[in-house]
Amino acid sequence: MDNLNKSITIKRLNDLNTLVSLSKRRGFVFQSSEIYGGLGSCWDYGPLGSLMKLNVKKAWWQAMTRRADMVGIDASILMHPMVWKASGHVDGFSDPLVDCKNCKTRFRSDNTDSYLNEKKCPQCGSQNLSEPRQFNLMFKTHMGPVEDGSNAIYLRPETAQGHFVNFQNCQQSSRYKVPFGIAAIGKSFRNEITPGNFIFRTREFEQMEMQYFVKPGTDEKYFEQWKETRMSFYLKYNINPENLRFHPHGPTELAHYAKAAVDVQYKFPMGFSELEGIHNRSDFDLTQHSKFSGKNLEYFDEANKEKYIPYVIETAVGCDRLFLAFMCDAYREEVSKEESGSEDTRIVLGLHPDLAPYKVTVLPLSKKEELTGVSEKLRDQLAEDFDVLYDETASIGKRYRRQDEIGTPFCVTVDFETAKDQAVTIRHRDSMVQERISMTQLNSYVSKKLKNF
Ligand code: ATP
Repeated sequence: MDNLNKSITIKRLNDLNTLVSLSKRRGFVFQSSEIYGGLGSCWDYGPLGSLMKLNVKKAWWQAMTRRADMVGIDASILMHPMVWKASGHVDGFSDPLVDCKNCKTRFRSDNTDSYLNEKKCPQCGSQNLSEPRQFNLMFKTHMGPVEDGSNAIYLRPETAQGHFVNFQNCQQSSRYKVPFGIAAIGKSFRNEITPGNFIFRTREFEQMEMQYFVKPGTDEKYFEQWKETRMSFYLKYNINPENLRFHPHGPTELAHYAKAAVDVQYKFPMGFSELEGIHNRSDFDLTQHSKFSGKNLEYFDEANKEKYIPYVIETAVGCDRLFLAFMCDAYREEVSKEESGSEDTRIVLGLHPDLAPYKVTVLPLSKKEELTGVSEKLRDQLAEDFDVLYDETASIGKRYRRQDEIGTPFCVTVDFETAKDQAVTIRHRDSMVQERISMTQLNSYVSKKLKNF
């Protein structure tokens, strides 16, 4: 039974493994190619995860593209190889790697403590090591049937270049004036040396990037504005403010294109780490693409009759990393104590309802036809407006718990009174309060509650 009047202690997530096993057990995220032993750092989103990931993307996409100064784009993953020359990725997108001649481990020299402090291998402690060598992180493949150097092509390591090379297409087709932005969601690929921490750092991932084109001289103002805008996005989706902070980049951390940069960091179980990057990229990218393509990418400001290459403020967040942050933040264990001293634990994924895979689940109190018939009809009625689950197995208490654990905001129970009063009981995930609602009012009731959760 639900524990409405007991003393409750809340435990938060402090170990990523708890989430990894919940994700597998309940169908959020599975290891890729698991039946073959898995493929390192690749993950598949399952029945619940694929729904939730769509919701994460929808939240970001709407926050970006429902503005009057933003357009969307969906650029291809494969781009002209010159793009990556111009962007600096061919020459500069690399990590320094060291080989241990003793145990053959290969590791990064710039973020491995044992190497930085004592010049030792992190695996076996040997000091018989190679000098650091630069390793390019782009995945290379070949276009067409013949594999030779002339048709080498890269899987994009970021979506941003699709925005730069389409700057004029987007500006001219939409007739937007600077300042305006281009937003995109898409897959990126990086041959990371040290992937790990579940879906935090993987070799194939999805990015949600936005480039905001501004007049030079106004860039610092817009950089500050975007910091605030992005922080409010996370707060709107109920991330605990104590788990968020800005980390400004010092001069040695700045990327080659950046005039200024700040990370939004989230407190993952392994500590504060980058969730999103916000960069002032200056006019670097459009200038480079002008040079390498021979096309003039200047913007003409009709009102002031002046031409300039816009500066770019970029916001870039990984969809998978944000998914992980939402899961970590939402996870809680409510431990309630009976007077007798016995304990009961309710696992709740307190997701914002816009992000929860299912909004409502229909539960007939018994498997008898007189209840299941109505319940199935009710499921279809709700499915016209929401993602809905139906569950008729196990005790009602167990079924409520199953829904709590996957973050479903509402459960609707059909009981033996339903045929008489045409009403059902709706139970709220967080408060566990139950109300009786008429079936005809149910969709509009759930709609309203989801909006003002
Ligand atoms: P990190 O240092 O954590 O690898 P980065 O500084 O290289 O990240 P950016 O190039 O600024 O990352 O990419 C923007 C965002 O894309 C990051 O903040 C992160 O959310 C996401 N991202 C980058 N690399 C990966 C990856 N390998 N796996 C998952 N998400 C990633």
